[in-house]
Amino acid sequence: MKNMNIQERILNQIKIERQKQDAKWGEQNHLPMEWITILMEEIGEVSKEACDHHFRNGFGEDPILDENFSLVQEQRLIRYRQELIQVAAVAVSMIECLDRGFPVSIAINDE
Ligand SMILES: [Mg+2]
Repeated sequence: MKNMNIQERILNQIKIERQKQDAKWGEQNHLPMEWITILMEEIGEVSKEACDHHFRNGFGEDPILDENFSLVQEQRLIRYRQELIQVAAVAVSMIECLDRGFPVSIAINDE
């Protein structure tokens, strides 16, 4: 893992996340209108972590949180990254579904 460049490491993590999704739910075939709501749910989770980090949500209200400011903020960025991996994995799953010909077969351009 250490010798991989950043992009290879990320793509590998997305692949691992895709495998976790398949293990959890099996092959998923949804209509585009269904897929986009699944993707947006994941994007919402990314947004929550970005919002909490940016606006330092919760600080100034909870002494325990305040004591651990740096750790809490770092954890938010870690979750933000994890959720981005999930967003990418869902997007890959959406494309896989189309490429399986659901809801209909389409021409696929490899460029
Ligand atoms: Mg998520």
